[in-house]
Amino acid sequence: MVKEILEAILAGDTPPEEFAALPLPESYRAVTVHADEVDMFEGVPNREKDPRKSLHVDEVPVPELGPGEALIAVMASAINYNTVWTSIFEPLPTFKFLQRYGRISELTKRHDLPYHIVGSDAAGVVLRVGPGVTKWKPGDEVVAHCLSVELEDPDGHDDTMLDPQQRIWGFETNFGGLAEIALVKANQLMPKPKHLTWEEAACPGLVNSTAYRQLVSHNGANMKQGDIVLIWGASGGLGSYATQLALNGGAIPVCVVSSPEKAELCRRMGAELIIDRRAEGYRFWKDEQTQDPKEWQRFGKRIRELTGGEDPDIVFEHPGRETFGASVYVARRGGTIVTCAATSGYWHEYDNRYLWMNLKRIIGSHFANYREAWEANRLIMKGKIHPTLSRTYSLEETGQAAYDVHRNAHQGKVGVLCLAPREGLGVRDPEMRERYREEIHRFRNV
Ligand code: NAP
Repeated sequence: MVKEILEAILAGDTPPEEFAALPLPESYRAVTVHADEVDMFEGVPNREKDPRKSLHVDEVPVPELGPGEALIAVMASAINYNTVWTSIFEPLPTFKFLQRYGRISELTKRHDLPYHIVGSDAAGVVLRVGPGVTKWKPGDEVVAHCLSVELEDPDGHDDTMLDPQQRIWGFETNFGGLAEIALVKANQLMPKPKHLTWEEAACPGLVNSTAYRQLVSHNGANMKQGDIVLIWGASGGLGSYATQLALNGGAIPVCVVSSPEKAELCRRMGAELIIDRRAEGYRFWKDEQTQDPKEWQRFGKRIRELTGGEDPDIVFEHPGRETFGASVYVARRGGTIVTCAATSGYWHEYDNRYLWMNLKRIIGSHFANYREAWEANRLIMKGKIHPTLSRTYSLEETGQAAYDVHRNAHQGKVGVLCLAPREGLGVRDPEMRERYREEIHRFRNV
C-alpha cells in the first residue's frame, strides 16, 4: 500500500479526493533507536560512539491520527545534529523526553514507546488530516518544520517558542521525519518550494529556520544592513544558511571554516571574508581547563585585517565551549553573541570583563516559531536562499549519514531519500529551477 501512495505522488497530478481515498498501510519503515540499547556506548568516548550501531530501520505501525494533526508520506528527509545526539544517547537518551511527553494526555501517550522514530525535517505529501484541520488537505505537497507546541498555557501566545510544552518534533517527540510516513501537527506544515526536488526541499527546514531566528528575527540578533557577522562553521548546516541570510540581508559575513574546500563553498555563496581556522591554527585552549587570551587576540586581529579594522556586530555561535571565550572577546563594543548550541561542550567560559565593560549581550536562541519558520521557508520559495544539499543517502544508510555528520566529514546538509526512489523528483516549477540552477547545486559534489 505504500507502493500505491508512492505511485499517486509520482504521477504528479493525482487529485485530493484520490489521495484521501487511498488506504493507509498498517505499517511503514522508519529509522529508530531502541530503548533497550541506550547503554550500548557506556564508557566509549564521544567521538567513537557510532550511529551506525544504534540507528535501525524498523517496520512500525502507523500511529493513530489525533485532532489538529496530519499524516504525511515522506519523500525525503535530512540529517540534523539532533539525530546525532539521539543516536549516541548524549547528553541523555531521548526516551526521557518521550516519557515526559507521554504523561500529558491520552493523545500524547502514543509517543511513549520503546522505540523512537527520529528525524526533524521532511518533504512529502499530506495523506490524512485529523479533526479540526482546515488549512491542509490530502495531496498537498509540503515541508514540515519541527516545532511542536500545545499552547494551552498563556506563556506561548506571544512567541510560541516560549510555550512550556514546546518540543522539537522527531527529537523530543516520536514519529519523526526519517521514515516513510510521519505524524505532525498541522501547524508544522508549510508549502513545499515548487522549484526544488524532494531532497532539496527537505534539507533547509530545521537549520534555515534556526539561523533565521538567531540572526534575523527581533527574537534573535535582529541583524541589519552593513552588520559584520562572524559565522562559525559557515559551510555547515546552520552556518550555510546564516551566511546566505547575512548576504541576502546586506550584512557582511566573516566565515570561519576548517578547510580550503569549505572556504570555496563560502565563496560560492558570495562571501568574501573567510578564515580557515585549521590553516591558521587557532588554539583557544592551552589545556582542558585554561584558555589562551593571546589566541583570542590573534583571532580578533585577523578579523580586523579582513574587515578593515572593524569588529563583529554579531557573533553567530554554536560550537560552544571551544570557541565561546573567543566569541565574547571579538564581538564589538555593544555587539551581540547569539548562541543556539554547544557542539564542543556546554560548560562555557568567558572573561566577563569583556562583556560588561564593553556592553555586549549574549542571547540564547532555539529553533523558531511558526511565523519565523514560515518566513524562512518563504525565502527559499522565492529563490532568495538556496538549499545547501551536498549528497543524499538511502533510508538504510541513515546510520552512515549520521556518522559522517558526527565526524564533521560532510558539507552543508546531507539528505535522506525516504519514499523517493531516486534523486531529482518532485520539481513542479522547472522554469524557476532553471533560473537558480547554479545556486541550488553549489554544494553538490565538493
Ligand atoms: P554541522 O553541519 O555539523 O555544522 C557545524 C559546523 O561547526 C561544522 O561544519 C564545523 O565547521 C563547525 N565546528 C564544529 N566543531 C567546531 C569547533 N570545535 N570549533 C569551531 N567550529 C566547529 O552542524 P549544524 O547543523 O550546523 O549544527 C551545529 C550545532 O547546532 C549542533 O550542536 C546542533 O545540535 C545545534 N543546533 C541547534 C539548533 C537549535 O534550535 N537550538 C538548531 C540546529 C542545530 P568547520 O569545521 O568548517 O569550522
